[in-house]
Amino acid sequence: MLRSFAMRNYTVDALVLRTYRYGEADRIVVFLTEDRGKKRGVAKNATVSRRRFGAALEPLTRGRVAYVERESRELVRIDRIEPRLTPLGATAGRAAGDAAHVLGHAGYFAELLDEWAPEGAPNERLFRLGAAIGEALAGSSSIEALARYFEYWVLRLEGVYPALDVCPRCGRATLSQGAWLAMADRTYVCLECGQGRPRLSSEAVAFLGSLASRTPADAAASTVSSRVLKEIEDVHDRLMALHLEKELRSARVVRELGSRL
Ligand SMILES: [Zn+2]
Repeated sequence: MLRSFAMRNYTVDALVLRTYRYGEADRIVVFLTEDRGKKRGVAKNATVSRRRFGAALEPLTRGRVAYVERESRELVRIDRIEPRLTPLGATAGRAAGDAAHVLGHAGYFAELLDEWAPEGAPNERLFRLGAAIGEALAGSSSIEALARYFEYWVLRLEGVYPALDVCPRCGRATLSQGAWLAMADRTYVCLECGQGRPRLSSEAVAFLGSLASRTPADAAASTVSSRVLKEIEDVHDRLMALHLEKELRSARVVRELGSRL
């Protein structure tokens, strides 16, 4: 009786964020559930046998995860993961270099989710953002535009995205003409209130301003130039680092991949 009280079975929708080795044969899987927050679980034999978990352990895979939670234990026991949508599926029909680009970004998105999802607290909106990005990966013409969209929304959901209309220094709605990131204040400042870097052109501010009301697929199909996307990437890199206070490992991997292509 006591045993059944102390153990609970769950089957939930979740996103796989990352895995790492645990002992000789097992793996730890970090996953974000739809309504029970981020969990860490042991997938028995997942390192030595791919029979039970197969491709389901790829970061950003969405699936049904069956796990057992025991009272007073931080690690849950994962019984099964049924993948519904995998990043590998999103590479179908793409050239090899392009497929690596997609998988690299899937890893980057999963790592951002892991960094921003708190332990033990549900974050349904972050889950939904991750799931929507996973769905948009397959048809995306611009993975870079999708990445900038994702960064914008992660920061926005955390309530730390700087205002894109009114300059906090002069109080005028002049940011549409271009802006720069005042690092110390973590805000965008207009070009009349000083000159700084990194800088956003008026096109970059306009693209960012449009993201609040767009779907990921729509943002990824936009025709915004690579110069504008690069400006936004530089600004987002700094904003993320300011808030997370470190550089993400896979952000570097994505950059290195990009420079080789
Ligand atoms: Zn100003």
